[in-house]
Amino acid sequence: MNYYGNYVTRLIEELSRLPGIGGKTAQRLAFYILNMPKENVQQLAKSIIEAKENVKYCSICCNLTDQDPCSVCNNPKRNHNIIMVVEEPRDMAAYEKTKEFNGLYHILHGAISPMKDITAEDLRIKELLARLNEDTQEVILATGTSIEGETTAMYLCRLIKPLGIKVSRIANGVPVGSDLEYVDEVTLSRALEGRREM
Ligand code: ZN
Repeated sequence: MNYYGNYVTRLIEELSRLPGIGGKTAQRLAFYILNMPKENVQQLAKSIIEAKENVKYCSICCNLTDQDPCSVCNNPKRNHNIIMVVEEPRDMAAYEKTKEFNGLYHILHGAISPMKDITAEDLRIKELLARLNEDTQEVILATGTSIEGETTAMYLCRLIKPLGIKVSRIANGVPVGSDLEYVDEVTLSRALEGRREM
């Protein structure tokens, strides 16, 4: 129903397309935006468009970046022979916050999930395999501990281990099925420290 006129209705519709935003929240956000000072609304719109236009995927780790390679892959002080595989950019951000890991990352952009029809081909696995070489000392599988995360870790282990590369899995300190993003830094540090060879 078009209670608020076309412009407001369209704004609500666009906002409700975002993940986790239901109709009520979209309405609340739309009214909030309409009450914001004009400059702030312009800033918001500009930052969305600029992010979309300038952010790309790092050609090495597949993280979101505005420079390629990204600042992590490009950092000579990091250990380029250890690669931690995570599901999403936010998982990498969570591990970076712990300051415990000095290797590189690989972002899969998801996990294998028959339920959601996500297969290995949908993930950045080809790109991961292409990075591995004789200098690679270890691949740490830090996908989540949900069924999807475990399935993905098993799948990757079967691909990588035969190459003679050490494959390890983060410890069970991470609560089952939890989104890594919401796990505190101490738990993440412990999970990393307590990783076991697969
Ligand atoms: Zn990178």
